[in-house]
Amino acid sequence: SAMKLIQRLENDSHNAKQSMGDDTLFEVIPADAAGQDQQHQQQQPQPQPQQLGADAAGQLPGQPGIEPSLEYELTRRRIQTNIAEIWNYFSSELGKLRKAVGPGNSELEESIQQVLLQGADHKRSLLSDMEQLRRVDGYEAWRQQEAKDLSDLVQRRLHHLQNPSDCQNARKLVCKLNKGCGYGCQLHHVVYCFIVAYATERTLILKSRGWRYHKGGWEEVFRPVSDNCQDAGTAYAYNWPGKPNTQVLVLPIIDSLMPRPPYLPLAVPEDLAPRLKRLHGDPIVWWVGQFLKYLLRPQTETRDFLNSGMRKLGWERPIVGVHVRRTDKVGTEAAFHGIDEYMTHVEDYYRTLEINGSSVVRRIFLASDDARVIVEARKKYPQYQIVGDPEVARMAAVSTRYTDTALNGIILDIHLLSMSDYLVCTFSSQVCRVAYEIMQTMYPDAAYRFKSLDDIYYYGGQNPHNRRAVIPHKPRSHEDLQLKVGDLVSVAGNHWDGNSKGKNTRTNQGGLFPSFKVVDKVETAKLPVYPGV
Ligand code: GDP
Repeated sequence: SAMKLIQRLENDSHNAKQSMGDDTLFEVIPADAAGQDQQHQQQQPQPQPQQLGADAAGQLPGQPGIEPSLEYELTRRRIQTNIAEIWNYFSSELGKLRKAVGPGNSELEESIQQVLLQGADHKRSLLSDMEQLRRVDGYEAWRQQEAKDLSDLVQRRLHHLQNPSDCQNARKLVCKLNKGCGYGCQLHHVVYCFIVAYATERTLILKSRGWRYHKGGWEEVFRPVSDNCQDAGTAYAYNWPGKPNTQVLVLPIIDSLMPRPPYLPLAVPEDLAPRLKRLHGDPIVWWVGQFLKYLLRPQTETRDFLNSGMRKLGWERPIVGVHVRRTDKVGTEAAFHGIDEYMTHVEDYYRTLEINGSSVVRRIFLASDDARVIVEARKKYPQYQIVGDPEVARMAAVSTRYTDTALNGIILDIHLLSMSDYLVCTFSSQVCRVAYEIMQTMYPDAAYRFKSLDDIYYYGGQNPHNRRAVIPHKPRSHEDLQLKVGDLVSVAGNHWDGNSKGKNTRTNQGGLFPSFKVVDKVETAKLPVYPGV
């Protein structure tokens, strides 16, 4: 029935997030594992969502031993992406036609409007079917298990790296938490340091006294990055790149890193790449999420604050996370987007859930650095339950941003955005990118659970983002690129109208090309494999 389908669509996310671990802020509990994890169940009794999409015995379709091929997973995900792309194309072109026809021919204008409305339903039905296909193709149990195994492996490696048996003589990488930017930007700074630490097999030493968001330092908010090795010691500390035998190395911010090593984002470790390519729609986002998972293990007070914050707000699922970045960002680093633009995509998400005729409570979690956004949304969208705290948004204003209260606010906001079923935001903001990265630790593959109004995903300071042409392209106008199958295009962005912009690295020509004619190239780098961990 329709209701069953909705529940099935929602089931994996409910299960994935129903319980919170003791020491992990952002815990992966794959849908099937959550039901089996007795310890979690006992710590925090939760209503047991029915294992939908499961057979009578309560098993997810498929068995861990039955694996999809890489080609199958790539094709399935490519269809999913391109359903969105074909609709971006038609809706944008039809929108232009409707405008051109104008009020001069209201009958034709109305016909075009009807095609747009009907077409959107076609698209939603297809996306709903793709979700269903994933649920029933027999590989879901494998996906859950593989996600858990991979995450456990990386977490064990990080724990090993961070807890050397001989701290005094251990090789160390010093990272200073003093980058002059916001919380999201600083988290990305620490993740970058941690990636370099992982790649050079050095224990990460995080210097955070006097942190602009909390003077007492990182360790008062999150668990220390090491249990037994938190100090650089007395050895002389050399600046990057140092020498191979340098014991203590200090890392600059990524913007001034010279020389640049090959393992910076968007690269993922070569030894994990084959598994990640099969499991995940965007392996680098998964990889970054793993570092955040380790870093953001909360101290008791932080965890209590988050739990009480959720209770006070009346957190409930399903929910769409909406992040509206305003204040200092607008007009400098990003364009203004009205609340209606975000809500169009929220509405589309819910209509997809309702495609089979059921009805879902319209709910959003709204985070912003401008309290007026929450007030405006509540007034304009009375049919929506709008979870959010204008007081938190008010404290996020530039003048009060670097206070303890504001730090609590941004931690809670990012936490709740990452726990939402779907994100609508601007990827130009590091707040939303961090939430999206953390979201990856909650599902086997949450690469498609977002709509960005501006940028595609990127990591500040990343190496070029390449996509490979799989369909040739003849320029339609002087604005277009020419593509031959196999060409690498360094992508600058997606115009969300069916076209992307980039530079063909073979011809050095820049321009537009249809987004569906390329696939992402997953970059890899040779990194230590941590044998024995
Ligand atoms: P970016 O500037 O948007 O790329 O992200 P940053 O995290 O680097 O800097 C923005 C800072 O503004 C955040 O770290 C917060 O301090 C504040 N901020 C922005 N958006 C929000 C929000 O939705 N909620 C809260 N509580 N703070 C926000």
